Amino acid sequence: MYGLAIGSGKELWHFYRATKRVGSFAYVAKRLAKHGLDVALHGRGMLLTNGNALAARLYRTAKDSDIPVWLDSPVKRLLARDDGSVIGAIVQTPYGLRRVLTRKGVVLACGGFSHDFARRQEIYTHNASPSEHHSAASPGNVGDGIRLGEAVGARIAEGYPNAGAWAPTSLVPRKDGTKGPFPHFIDRGKPGVIAVTRSGQRFVNEANSYHDFVQGMIRACPKGEAAEAFLIADHRTIRRYGLGHVKPAPLPLKSSLESGYLIKGGTIAELARNVGIDPAGLEATIQKWNADVAKGEDSAFGKGSTAYNRFHGDAEVKPNPCLAPINNGPFYGVRVVPGDIGTFAGLRTDESSRVLDSSGEPIPGLYAAGNDMASILGGNYSGGGITLGPGMTFGFIAGRHAAGVNN
Ligand SMILES: Cc1cc2nc3c(=O)[nH]c(=O)nc-3n(C[C@H](O)[C@H](O)[C@H](O)COP(=O)(O)OP(=O)(O)OC[C@H]3O[C@@H](n4cnc5c(N)ncnc54)[C@H](O)[C@@H]3O)c2cc1C
Repeated sequence: MYGLAIGSGKELWHFYRATKRVGSFAYVAKRLAKHGLDVALHGRGMLLTNGNALAARLYRTAKDSDIPVWLDSPVKRLLARDDGSVIGAIVQTPYGLRRVLTRKGVVLACGGFSHDFARRQEIYTHNASPSEHHSAASPGNVGDGIRLGEAVGARIAEGYPNAGAWAPTSLVPRKDGTKGPFPHFIDRGKPGVIAVTRSGQRFVNEANSYHDFVQGMIRACPKGEAAEAFLIADHRTIRRYGLGHVKPAPLPLKSSLESGYLIKGGTIAELARNVGIDPAGLEATIQKWNADVAKGEDSAFGKGSTAYNRFHGDAEVKPNPCLAPINNGPFYGVRVVPGDIGTFAGLRTDESSRVLDSSGEPIPGLYAAGNDMASILGGNYSGGGITLGPGMTFGFIAGRHAAGVNN
């Protein structure tokens, strides 16, 4: 939004303080003016940072090397010889089906199966129907790579404790009546934000990773019912940090309230009733929370007790950057449900990114990288970067192996 990437640390730091510090106001004004100019001149923001910059550099290298890039051209089928070796693919292009033969090999990198509803239901251990699990991954990641591999004898890894990288996700109403998934990365760690189930009870250290949060949410919700939770904050907190898709002051809350994304109550009990939470449970939880905040320690779940937690808090809040009272009404809630930002269970490969068949032998000419390749962490989430890091590393290894360099 406004040309910002989700994890833009320095930019967000200034945006949070734009109405409080002259330096931050000037930074934000300059940043927005530059973005507005870019959009007017080029139709989009031109400042690329983080992953955007990385992808742009790789694309530039491909262009400079005269490597053709076909857009809107999904691979439909792999071509294999009788001995099983992969020698090319059938590709659906805007000009019709094209047969592409390779000299070195095919690398499957179709992004995993976040939007393959049938496979999700089969592999995820929680209910992953389209109405109960919402992925923020690219909508084109429909499991093609895994199906293409399986059709020539490959196997998907089984038994992963988590088949994807989970993220608590809220659903933002769009003008056309659909809802867009918004993964909650940074708001949960902020002081004055807690998460509760419909019982009004907290269930997790909100500042832990999004992956841990969702596992806690699924455990805390009654079996057989949809997993869901509610992020709760008071007026001071939401105006300072925003909440999910809701932006901090001076941007207005009105449209989020009108769309039903953000739910409000003049008192904690009223908020609970409006959201559908047990009022007595929520009141008791917030009373305990406020008592803990006064002591600077979350005795229930240890929010703010790790460096990871504190990084997502507010360094200017002392003594615990993740704790602030919830006592400044009105009060607000946003519903979150399970979602993912990518899948971990992918095709089994060896150390050279070669795809393995059911007997564990490499299928000649076939490689996998990114989320089409089974995660090297076996379905565990050690921290941010655990998909992109191995994705880049094993993509690089696949290319060098196929080219016969340093095998
Ligand atoms: C909001 C968000 C934040 C994230 N933050 C991080 C982070 O901080 N660190 C991190 O490590 N990871 C992060 N991830 C996860 C990471 O972005 C993905 O795991 C990674 O991009 C997957 O790379 P990939 O190459 O496998 O697939 P993608 O980058 O998703 O690319 C796959 C592409 O293949 C296309 N495709 C699908 N089928 C076909 C077909 N048949 N033929 C041709 N093309 C096809 C798809 O349309 C898609 O464009 C984040 C994800 C999201 C959604």
